[in-house]
Amino acid sequence: MTRPAGAGGRQGEAAGRRSPWIPPSDHRVGILGGTFDPIHYGHLAIAEEVREALDLDRVFFVPAGKPPHKLDERITPAEQRAAMVALAIEGNPAFVLSRIELERDGPSYTVDTLELLTQEARRQGIGRELYFILSEEALAGLPNWRKPERIMALCRLAVVPRPGAAAPDELELEARFAGRADRIVPIRTAPLAHSASEVRRRAAAGQSIRYLVPPAVEAYIRDHRLYRSAKPAEERAK
Ligand code: ATP
Repeated sequence: MTRPAGAGGRQGEAAGRRSPWIPPSDHRVGILGGTFDPIHYGHLAIAEEVREALDLDRVFFVPAGKPPHKLDERITPAEQRAAMVALAIEGNPAFVLSRIELERDGPSYTVDTLELLTQEARRQGIGRELYFILSEEALAGLPNWRKPERIMALCRLAVVPRPGAAAPDELELEARFAGRADRIVPIRTAPLAHSASEVRRRAAAGQSIRYLVPPAVEAYIRDHRLYRSAKPAEERAK
């Protein structure tokens, strides 16, 4: 079983956490934040591509407790989304489930997570390099995130392509992020069409999701009767 990072349940080592969010031995770290409703092979493939391309020690999968851009949407409870992440990455020591956004209330802002991880690295006395992994599609929405400039100060952005959204070239990046384009690292890889919404749509229609998600995630979805209809789990449970 993959040990969840930060299983201590309280906020930060200073507050008496039993384990750090990121162990001091990890210097080059990828952060893949998402709703993971559910995690699919696209997430796993981009994490592996970026890990290899940037020679990362580890990639932390960070399910959002409450995704700020989905506050009005019904989504699967955070613990079930996290459970599916744990199942998907089980057996891969380079991939870790992080509970950092499940441990705090309110919307899960990426900037707050990066601040906490940076403070932790300072306490550990190490110069850790954080790479936040996101698709070009998500990068296009970055200006609408909370404190995008601060995000780019706290980490580098490892940008992968997604169908319909190619990884940006240097000239384009300089035009969009003047003076900060060096904080963006395009990862040249083939776009993958996987999406969580397509997995949900297929599950709701009773279609196969085999080869879109790992077998253990497929079994979890079946056993917990997730995505059985267009309505999400919380609503169906009523
Ligand atoms: P949904 O279909 O519900 O919008 P999603 O598949 O985009 O979900 P998220 O958990 O929202 O899944 O994604 C987390 C991160 O992974 C985002 O940066 C997203 O753009 C990226 N991502 C997800 N699927 C792919 C993919 N097939 N290729 C590249 N990036 C992806």
